[in-house]
Amino acid sequence: MVELHVLPPEVVSRIAAGEVVERPASIVKELIENSLDAGADKIDVDSRGGGAELLCVADNGSGIPCAHVEMAFLRHATSKIASLDDLVHLRSLGFRGEALPSIAAVADVEVSTSAADTELGTYLYIHGGTVVHRESKPRAQGTTIAVRRLFRHFPARLKFLKSEATENGHIAQVVSQYALAFPSVAFSLLLEDRIAVRSPGNGVLRDVVVQLYGTELARAMIRIESSSDSMSITGLAAPASLSRAGRGHQSMFINHRWIRSPLLQRAVDDAYRGLLQEGRNAVTVLNLEMSPDRLDVNVHPGKALVKFADEQAVFRFVRGALKTALMNTSVATDARHLSYTSTGTQYNWSVGEPMEHTPSPHLAATPTPGSEALPPLRILGQLLATYIVAEGPDGMYLVDQHAAHERVVYDSLVAQEAGAAPEVQGLLEPITIELSPTEDSLLIDAFEELSTVGFMIDNFGDRTYLLRSIPAVLRDFDAATILRDILHELSQHSRQDIHARLAITISCHAAVRAGRHLSVDEMKQLILQLERCAQPRTCPHGRPTVIRYDKGELDRLFGRRS
Ligand code: ADP
Ligand code: MG
Repeated sequence: MVELHVLPPEVVSRIAAGEVVERPASIVKELIENSLDAGADKIDVDSRGGGAELLCVADNGSGIPCAHVEMAFLRHATSKIASLDDLVHLRSLGFRGEALPSIAAVADVEVSTSAADTELGTYLYIHGGTVVHRESKPRAQGTTIAVRRLFRHFPARLKFLKSEATENGHIAQVVSQYALAFPSVAFSLLLEDRIAVRSPGNGVLRDVVVQLYGTELARAMIRIESSSDSMSITGLAAPASLSRAGRGHQSMFINHRWIRSPLLQRAVDDAYRGLLQEGRNAVTVLNLEMSPDRLDVNVHPGKALVKFADEQAVFRFVRGALKTALMNTSVATDARHLSYTSTGTQYNWSVGEPMEHTPSPHLAATPTPGSEALPPLRILGQLLATYIVAEGPDGMYLVDQHAAHERVVYDSLVAQEAGAAPEVQGLLEPITIELSPTEDSLLIDAFEELSTVGFMIDNFGDRTYLLRSIPAVLRDFDAATILRDILHELSQHSRQDIHARLAITISCHAAVRAGRHLSVDEMKQLILQLERCAQPRTCPHGRPTVIRYDKGELDRLFGRRS
């Protein structure tokens, strides 16, 4: 017989904790939100061991009165809302009363808080969700919450944490976003005792951008300011020439709440349509303000998603505000950025697979397994500046020039990692690159691998680096953009894949583009090199480099036989 029962409280709280505390960065997010709700204008964050050893958030906010400190750790205990009506007119970032108990369910927590300068503060040590020590201690008004030994008693969760640098990268992203959302709050972030983020707290958004993304971007960004009857938007948007590969530099806030919103992403994409190349993303920091009753923030445990009452109106308003601002500014298109096109993940492959789209559905010209060697090929010419047409002993071959070259470059890079010396191009003038805190963590994490393939990079203080050499295969490209794209690519994958990801991204950038006319010699060279690869028939992304039409298939197409 199936027995039904209500779960004991410790199981319930552990299940709930799993929703809120996904990784160290989610704790940082919750603690920062609490500090902001408490009116703090100075918030200091400290992370060690990728946040698993220590996460500490200290603020100068209102503090928690000594009689209420324990209560703050009870589930659904909150000072922010009291009624359904409050939920509809929500002004605070928090409202669920779940963060502190959830955090205390998965880590040791130390709280030190004082609600007024004159009052003695309260110190609590919470272990296993229960208070094991309490004392009164003097403290300036504000709250410090230190979270230690996260997931120590949850081996399954601990196992899912990525490398320290990756977790720190996520933490840097959270702190950066809140620094952008609240320019009048001074944020600092220490990662493993190194200053990673510092915002001035002077109320000037552009000054926060200088700190996070560097002066080049901050100077170039266009001011966005627009309002309608029901909404207003403020922020900064970069000209299309300073685009990025990922969306890490696209910040969206609603009433200063950091959110993910596919709707707003589409609005941004739409506003930049025609200005950006395929797969590139605009750099934007946008804060949308509207009456809280026009949106529902209670749709996600981490409060990262919202639902708008009128999606269409929001979409049109945001797109319109951006479009107008972009149109009114002469968007300087920098030829340097235009000369370089999309990364591998965005490469348009539809042209490479005509048999899926044309009337000839019977054409069985499927690629053969990747490791099968290529026969000697006689080059006949180039088609659509994209494919090399060649004749082999058993039929016609079409070679995708980009995919084929990607394979060739990839194999040469992998050989370098296996011990061969990298072919390096020294830069006469080193390139200065200012990285965001997230990019900085990724760079530190990948430093060794980057130097293995030929990126010689020196730290020039804080998050500024000097790029002194690049892999020789990238000599004709914009090195700074490629390095940023590589960091973005690395952020999408786990530490284990780092070697392969690097090689894939570099080879995709270095590979000859579709659309470039090749001389017969260039084509011959490429085919020769491809023939020497161990897996000549697929590119590193696993897509075909070569498609064969054998005689039988051609005969069938022409009705010579059925
Ligand atoms: P919520 O933020 O949804 O109310 P939390 O569990 O995050 O729930 O916090 C519970 C309560 O603890 C808050 O409502 C607030 O009263 C108090 N609190 C938490 N952090 C701080 C802080 N840094 N400063 C002042 N009060 C705080
Ligand atoms: Mg909270």
